[in-house]
Amino acid sequence: MEARNLSARYGQVQALAPIDFQVGAGELVAVLGPNGAGKSTLLRAILGLVTNAGEVAFMGAALPRRNPVAVASRGVVLVPEGRGIFGPMTVMENLELGAYRLKDRHERQRRFDRVFELFPRLKERLGQTAGSMSGGEQQMLAIGRALMADPKILLLDEPSLGLAPRVTDEILETLGVLNRSGLPVVLVEQRAPQALKLAHRAYLLSLGRLVAVIDPREVQSHDQLAQYYFA
Ligand code: ATP
Repeated sequence: MEARNLSARYGQVQALAPIDFQVGAGELVAVLGPNGAGKSTLLRAILGLVTNAGEVAFMGAALPRRNPVAVASRGVVLVPEGRGIFGPMTVMENLELGAYRLKDRHERQRRFDRVFELFPRLKERLGQTAGSMSGGEQQMLAIGRALMADPKILLLDEPSLGLAPRVTDEILETLGVLNRSGLPVVLVEQRAPQALKLAHRAYLLSLGRLVAVIDPREVQSHDQLAQYYFA
C-alpha cells in the first residue's frame, strides 16, 4: 500500500497533515504516538471514513477516497478501536458477519478453520454471547471476524487497549504469525516497545504530523525510543 500526501480533517480542523505512508508486501508496519497524535485518523483516511485528500494505491490500483465499502471490498479490512463486536450476538454470529456476502460454503469453512487454528478459544465458545467473553477473547473475535473477510491487508487500531500485558503479548504474537504467513499488517499501538518487536518499520506521529520513520533494528533501548518521542 502506498499513500501519498494523505491528509484528513474533521470539519475545519486538520487532524492529519499530509503524510507519505507505505506498507510493502508482507510487511508489518507500526503506527506509534501519544493520544491524539492522529493514528486512528490515519487508518480512517486510508479507508475513506473521514474527509481526506491525497492518494492511496493498493495492489497496483488507486483506492476510492470516499467509499469505505468499495475500499473494504478491495481487501482492506479494519479491526476498529473498541473492537466493534456485537455483544448480544454469539461468537459464531459475529464471525459470520465478517463473511456475510460469501456464498461458497467450502470457502466459508476454509476461513472458519483458519480462524479456529489461530484462535482455538473461539472454537470452544461458538455459542457464547460475545459480550460475555473476556476483553482478550473479544479482541480475538474482532480479529477473527476481520479474517473471515479474507483481508489482503489488515489494519488494527490499538488491539491491546484495556488488555493485561500477558493477553496483549498473546494477541500481538498472533499478529506476528499472521504477518509471517504473508499478510501485510498496519498496527496502531500505544505500546511502542511491543509493537517494535514485530514491526519491519514504524511511523511515529505527534499532533497530527509524521515526526519519524523508525527502523526497529536501530532502536536499542527505551531511552532511545523516548528520544524519538521527545525530539
Ligand atoms: P488515541 O490513541 O487517543 O486514539 P490517536 O492518535 O488515534 O489517539 P486520533 O483519534 O486520530 O488520535 O485523533 C487525532 C485528533 O483528531 C485529535 O485531536 C482528536 O481530538 C481529533 N478527532 C478525532 N476524531 C474526531 C472527530 N470525530 N471530530 C473532531 N475531531 C476529532
